Amino acid sequence: MSAVIRLDDLTLGYDGHPAVHHLHGAFETGSLTAIVGPNGSGKSTLLKGITGALKPLGGRIEHAGISVREIAYLPQIAEIDRTFPAVVSDLVSLGFWKSRGLFGAIRGDDRQALDEALQAVGLRGFEQRPIDTLSGGQLQRALFARVLLQDARVILLDEPFTAIDERTVGDLIALVQHWHNERRTVIAVLHDVEMVRRVFPQTLLLAREPIAWGATSETLHPENLLKARRMTEAWDEHAPWHDHAAKHHHHGDAA
Ligand code: ADP
Ligand code: MG
Repeated sequence: MSAVIRLDDLTLGYDGHPAVHHLHGAFETGSLTAIVGPNGSGKSTLLKGITGALKPLGGRIEHAGISVREIAYLPQIAEIDRTFPAVVSDLVSLGFWKSRGLFGAIRGDDRQALDEALQAVGLRGFEQRPIDTLSGGQLQRALFARVLLQDARVILLDEPFTAIDERTVGDLIALVQHWHNERRTVIAVLHDVEMVRRVFPQTLLLAREPIAWGATSETLHPENLLKARRMTEAWDEHAPWHDHAAKHHHHGDAA
C-alpha cells in the first residue's frame, strides 16, 4: 500500500489561529476513511487543507503522485448557495470544469457522461429543474453526480448524509462503495457512528488534534470517543455522534 495524501505535523487555522493541529499520518491509496469528531473539532478545516484551498500554518500536506486538480470536494451543504440561478444540469456540469476549463466546449461524449451521472444518482429527467426547487436529498444527489463527472482519484465529502432522507442515504452510500471498489481514495466527514462502523474500514477521530487514526473498530473505541468529547471546548451536547458509552458521563466537566 502507498499513501496518496500524507500529513506531516500539519497545523491548519484561520488568521494565524490554529483550528486543528499536529496531524501526522497518511491516507492510503484506495482507502475509505471516515472523519469523526465533535462540532468545531476541525473536520471541515482538514478537508479544506487537503483541497489546497487553505494553506498550512505549520507542517505540510504531501500529495503523492496527484495534483490537487485530481481531488473532488463536496462541501457541507450549508456552504452551498442555493439561490444561485442554475438548473440541475448546470450544477452537475461544473464537474467538467477541471478537465475542460470554465468556458471549454462541452463535447458529445460529455453530454453522454452527464446523462449517465444523472442516471446513476436517480435524477434522470431533472436536467432543467432550478436548484432552489430541489429537496435536500435531491440536491445532494446532484452534488454526487458532479463528483462522478470529475472522475477524481481522491474524493472528499463533508457531511454528505446530514439532513437527507433515508432512501437517498442508501443510494449515495452505494455510490461511495462503488468508488471504493474502483480504488479511488474516499474521505468523508460523518456523524453517524453506526454507519461509520458498518461502511468505513478506516476512521480518523479528531478533536482539534488527532485522538486516534486507524482501523474503525479501534478508533471508535468508547474511551477514544469520550476523550474526543473532553478535548473539544465547543461541543454540542446533542451531537448525534455521541456513543452509548459516553452517555453516562456528566457533560459539564469538559475542556
Ligand atoms: P467542524 O467541521 O469539525 O465542525 P471546522 O473545521 O468547521 O469544524 O471549524 C474548526 C474551528 O475553526 C472552529 O473553531 C471554527 O469556528 C473555526 N473556523 C472555521 N472556519 C473558519 C473561518 N472561515 N474563519 C475563522 N475561523 C473558522
Ligand atoms: Mg464541518
